[in-house]
Amino acid sequence: MTRLLPTSTAGSLPKPSWLAEPEVLWSPWKLEGEALVAGKQDALRVSLQEQQHAGIDIVSDGEQSRQHFVTTFIEHLNGVDFEKRETVKIRDRYEASVPSVVGPVSRQKPVFVEDAKFLRSQTDQPIKWALPGPMTMVDTLFDGHYKSREKLAWEFAKILNEEAKELEAAGVDIIQFDEPAFNVFFDEVNEWGIATLERAIEGLKCETAIHICYGYGIKANTDWKNTLGSEWRQYEKAFPKLQQSNIDIVSLECHNSHVPMELIELIRGKKVMVGAIDVASNTIETPEEVAETLRKALQFVDADKLYPCTNCGMAPLSREVARGKLQALSAGAAIVRKELEAQR
Ligand SMILES: [Zn+2]
Repeated sequence: MTRLLPTSTAGSLPKPSWLAEPEVLWSPWKLEGEALVAGKQDALRVSLQEQQHAGIDIVSDGEQSRQHFVTTFIEHLNGVDFEKRETVKIRDRYEASVPSVVGPVSRQKPVFVEDAKFLRSQTDQPIKWALPGPMTMVDTLFDGHYKSREKLAWEFAKILNEEAKELEAAGVDIIQFDEPAFNVFFDEVNEWGIATLERAIEGLKCETAIHICYGYGIKANTDWKNTLGSEWRQYEKAFPKLQQSNIDIVSLECHNSHVPMELIELIRGKKVMVGAIDVASNTIETPEEVAETLRKALQFVDADKLYPCTNCGMAPLSREVARGKLQALSAGAAIVRKELEAQR
């Protein structure tokens, strides 16, 4: 990126009400067959246009073609039985009925590549595409085959690498892996989480990012966050090793979270997507609030490596609120960009 402080979102944006029930996660599609295919493309067009209208620099599909950030990818894999469900504890936090791994996992065909090509055909701006990370995939399934979280993660990493290479060939500029599990399983992160992530990005020439957040949209996440106290230092566990990794960009949450800003120092040298928009609140940030978060982050990240972003996806918000937040992000970044340019 040549522009200073290029803005982007963590990923998802609200879907139009004709495509899926708004303001809920896991919302079922309202269309079927050909109409659904066309509907998802139309929603992507709208989502892109809203990002462009707000002045977002690095755009995405707003995750209009997926129901869930992990499960939609897994649905396309061999070796996972969606009928055979087991109850497991997700993120060591809440019980959920999940599909089972019943045999060797593999990718039947590209999952998001056609969608990425479509987005590429709609804009010349840099585009970012999100995939789930290996550890978060493992943590969203019951494994009745490998019986080892690490083994399964390595298998998923191989599959993700195949998908990522095709996304790169489709013209994606930044491939992002969502790893909320990195905020929970610290030993595993350092033993094999970051290693499997590096396997997933092996051989890529495009930029790569990891998004780590505290989870949104469900009560279990909110309840968990209430137990974390006034200082959230979870990032401290993964950052030193991430700093040493081949990942280019780290996306994290800042505004209104209890993460001490100085933890960013631990990933010095990486580009940082700083969450300056709270996705758990309907209150639209003022541009000045966004600017203040970015100024604080600038103490720990060089200006040319600071990427203003949202804390997480905005799928559960109303479209109106999401639009307001996109504009605030853009306007806040513009304030600080101006300040930086005046100093040069
Ligand atoms: Zn997130």
